[in-house]
Amino acid sequence: KSGFISIIGRPNVGKSTFMNKVLGQKVAIMSDKPQTTRNKIQGVHTTDTSQMIFIDTPGIHKPKHQLGEHMMKVARNTLRETEAILFLVNVSEEIGRGDEYIIEMLKNTRTPIILVLNKIDLVHPDKLIEQIEVYKDKLPFSEIVPISALQGNNIDKLLEVLESYL
Ligand code: GDP
Ligand code: MG
Repeated sequence: KSGFISIIGRPNVGKSTFMNKVLGQKVAIMSDKPQTTRNKIQGVHTTDTSQMIFIDTPGIHKPKHQLGEHMMKVARNTLRETEAILFLVNVSEEIGRGDEYIIEMLKNTRTPIILVLNKIDLVHPDKLIEQIEVYKDKLPFSEIVPISALQGNNIDKLLEVLESYL
């Protein structure tokens, strides 16, 4: 089985950390600055039974100028053409405008959306349950998977879930 997976999430939720963990090498540039990862970066994760091609979907901001609008189109096309969308959020912070903006954008897509609650290493299990409640009413997510991209927790489980969408 083989297919494309797009990764979306506001800056600093851990998209690059996740990709680096999965791909086992530094392909995406890690930075606190939202604009660093301007281009789509692709990486391939291969197992005995599957091949996943990851597409980083950076630069999803409110379109203030021409470049913003162009990048929105690029992002929308990416989301439409992939087998599944990984929507990463920072579970240790409250849902914010950046997350809500992406949620609005995802409302019209037919691609299955997998909500990834990242940074579980920073929260109490009760908080995790609370966050699941907050997010699950926002969109009809196909799956909700808590992980720690930094520590590597539950990454295997997420990859297993992803494989079922290829
Ligand atoms: P991106 O902007 O979405 O690509 O986010 P990055 O991957 O650059 O991560 C932003 C910051 O969050 C970095 O300092 C990471 O080390 C940190 N980070 C990412 N994932 C985790 C995680 O699971 N737990 C913790 N504690 N920090 C994380
Ligand atoms: Mg990044």
